[in-house]
Order: sequence, then C-alpha cells, then structure tokens
Amino acid sequence: MVEMVAFSPSPGTYEVRAVDGAVSFARIPDPTDISGDMRYVVTAVTGRNPLELQDPTWLSPLSVELANRQPRRQGNSYPLAFERIAQLFDHPCAPDLCVLHTAAHRPTSHRGEHGSLDVVQSRAPLVAAGPGIARRGLVDGWCRVVDVAPTILSLLGAQPGVGTGPTGQSNGEVRLARQDGRVIFPLLDPATGVPDHVVVVLMDGANANVLYHAAVDGTMPNVGWLVDHGTALAHGAIASLPTVTLANHTSLHTGCHPGHHGVLHNAWFDRATDRQVVTESPATWQESMQWLFSGIETIHESVHRLRPGALTVSINEPADRGSDYSTMELMRRGQVRRLMEGMPDPLPLADERWMAESEEFRWGSLVDASALRQATSIWGGDHLGVKYPLPTFTWVSFSVTDAAFHHGGPHSEIAQAALKDTDARLGQLIAAVDRRGVLDRTTFFLVADHGMEETAEHCPGDWGVALAAAGVAHRDEASGFIYLGGPGTASGPA
Ligand SMILES: [Zn+2]
Repeated sequence: MVEMVAFSPSPGTYEVRAVDGAVSFARIPDPTDISGDMRYVVTAVTGRNPLELQDPTWLSPLSVELANRQPRRQGNSYPLAFERIAQLFDHPCAPDLCVLHTAAHRPTSHRGEHGSLDVVQSRAPLVAAGPGIARRGLVDGWCRVVDVAPTILSLLGAQPGVGTGPTGQSNGEVRLARQDGRVIFPLLDPATGVPDHVVVVLMDGANANVLYHAAVDGTMPNVGWLVDHGTALAHGAIASLPTVTLANHTSLHTGCHPGHHGVLHNAWFDRATDRQVVTESPATWQESMQWLFSGIETIHESVHRLRPGALTVSINEPADRGSDYSTMELMRRGQVRRLMEGMPDPLPLADERWMAESEEFRWGSLVDASALRQATSIWGGDHLGVKYPLPTFTWVSFSVTDAAFHHGGPHSEIAQAALKDTDARLGQLIAAVDRRGVLDRTTFFLVADHGMEETAEHCPGDWGVALAAAGVAHRDEASGFIYLGGPGTASGPA
C-alpha cells in the first residue's frame, strides 16, 4: 500500500523513507536564478534513494504506460519530487507525515486512483490552440499545473511585475501577486497575435496519455482539432502534491502550490484551532476559497487588473474568487436548482449504456450538461434572464471524466465513453464561440487537475489498521495526511 512517507524534521529540511531506503534533502534559494526558484540538495541517502528517478517524461506515451501498469517503486518516477514535497510543509496545517501510496493501491472499489507522487497519478494533459499559441502539434514537452495561470496571463499581455515569487520573497518576474509557476514559453508564438478571449476547459482526472491517444484515434475529434491547430505537451502538466482535485484546481487558478495558496488538500487538520477542515464535499466546496492565504491572487482577479471591465466566467468550478459569473456563487445563494431545471431526458451527448449502469456516470453527465448549458447560454448573450457581453475569460470544469476514470480505471470502456461525451460537449462549446464570430480571436486551453492510474485488485486496504495495531495514536485526513497524537492531537508532536 505504502510507497514512501515524507516529513519535514525542521523548516527547509525534508526526509522521505521507503522500506528499502531513505533520502534527506534541503531547500536553499538559488541566487543565480533570475526567477528566484529554490534549489534542492541531497544531504543523506541510506539504502536505495526512493526519489532517485524524477523524470517527468517517464511512462509516456500510452503504449509505455500500458506495458508498465502498476509499476513497482524501483521502476517508477516521481517528477519534481523535491519541490512538490517541500511546498506542502510550508503550510501551517501540514501533516506530521505525508503517506504516498503505491501505484497499485486500491483503497475502495474504484479501479482508478490518484493522489500520490508518481508520474501517472501526477500527469494531467495540457493543450492550447488559438491566437498567441504556436502550431506545433503534439510535442515532446512538459510543464507544471502551477505554470498554467502565468502562461494565460502572459498570453493576454500581462508583463512581468513585482510580487512574491517561488521563494516567498519579493520578485520582479511574476504576473500574479504570488506565483510559483513560470510562463510556458514553448507553447507561445507572439507572431500569431493576442487573443481577445480565452476559454479553459478542465477535464477532471483525465489521464494525459489516454486523452492524447483518444485525440489521435478519433474518439476525441475536437481535442484532435485543438492539437492540430495548436500545441500539446506530450508529457503533460505535472500536478502539485497532493495530486487531488481541489488542491490542484486552486493551483491552476493561482499559479501557486497548495502549501502556498492555502487550499492544502480535500481535508486537513488545524492544530491551532483543534479543528478538522473539509474543503471538498458537496456541503463545503463552494466555500473553499475562504482558505486562500492573504496575498494570493486568482486568475480572475489578475484578468480584471489587466483588462478592467472584462467579463470573467467560472462554470462548475470551486476556485472562483474574482469571477463575474460563478456557478459556486449561485450555490452559495441557494439558487443552484435553477441550473438543473429542464434538462432533456434522455440527456444528449451522454452514453446510453453507462447512463443506465453507473450512478456516478449519470450524475457527472448531468452536471456536465449543466456546465455546457451555462457556457453556451452566456456565450449566447443571455443566461437565466441576465444579458452578458462576450466573456474575456471563461473557465469550464467538466467532471464525468473523473467519475468514469475512477469507476473503471483509465483504460476502461467507461473512461472511453466519458472522453467521447466530453469531447462532444467541447465541440458544442467551440461552436458557441464560432456562432459569435470570434473563433479566430479566441484561444482554448484544455487541462486536467491530476492524472489517474489503474490500481490492482491485490492491493486493497488502509494503513490505519497497521498504525492502530502498532499503537500509534493518530488521525488520518483525506487519506494520507497523518497527524500524530491523541484524538484531538493538539498535544501531539509538532
Ligand atoms: Zn480531480
């Protein structure tokens, strides 16, 4: 079940242990790096170094992933592991121990999982097409999830300015008030213009290798069109740790790692207030932006700073702060029911078999149909009786991909059905932009928040059983954030 555990013995120092070895490393600012990035040095290794391989290009394309399902620790890669582990412990509510599960671990009946440090669970797709984007097709490259917001802002004309950089110190090269990411320059071609409109489509939990393959084999013709007219990074966008939904949606929107933007995980424990914080649940996720640290700027806020008066739209997306239209705002006002009214039955663009066989697929499809209807209505100029000008920035999050990839694993029939349906919804969104006559002035981004890995039937269970049997008093938040000590843990070890 457990690949390794990570902890921070003292500020700026980190240790990662596996059953067959351990590595200690330290973080130091790099004064030679103009962007103000951190540098990491290994200070000790015993046995096998569990973070030996940090290659972001490992296990891609799809054929390589399929030939190496559930790789063992000796054959797995943990991209950018030092940076991704260190940032987590900058958060005042970081756990004592971060448990990183194996590729094979199947904690529930779900066949697909994510959340850990390894490359398949970390790799989200990244495709962009339109003015300002190079037309290079599928290229041999990678980036990080935190790089997406700075790149969009650069595309819209934001110049580097003074803010807080990756070290937490003042920096003259940032486009958001606080920024860990960098502009992905290989994606950009300023000769192709500056877009008037940017539309981002997030396909939650879409395994990058599977999605790129579906774009080529015709399952996702609209994604294929984006790749042909733009650039896709073959090795994807590497998610921040933990590779879970809310932490990385917020990283996409802020350009910061979870330990720096504040939305650390789907749940955590706050020793200072002796309180459990649950961010991702049907009851709480519309309120999750309350956990953003001060000094953090969202992409909606940056777009408004850059283009005063611009309309920004946030559809089915919890990281919505600063947006003019937001589904979550309707939820906060108790008006969300209006978004689900009058849905056609049967639902168009929804796979009949899986609508009948999977409750998760059915719900995800309904939610995504609502997302599409919100997006096409606003782009059509009228939504719920309110008139809208053309949005400068539109974010649409689709969810059935995550539901389907969890249910059957990334290489299943239900996953293919979810990709096909979501691609058709993307096609309708592109058509809505085209109807307003601005397709050639609009740049599209396609991203996900994390990857998804096929787990193994032989690897179920929960490490809590072993911890309890060993007499280790602890609480485990969001599966893997271990806080040592008694039930309250307030008196537990720091
Ligand atoms: Zn997700």
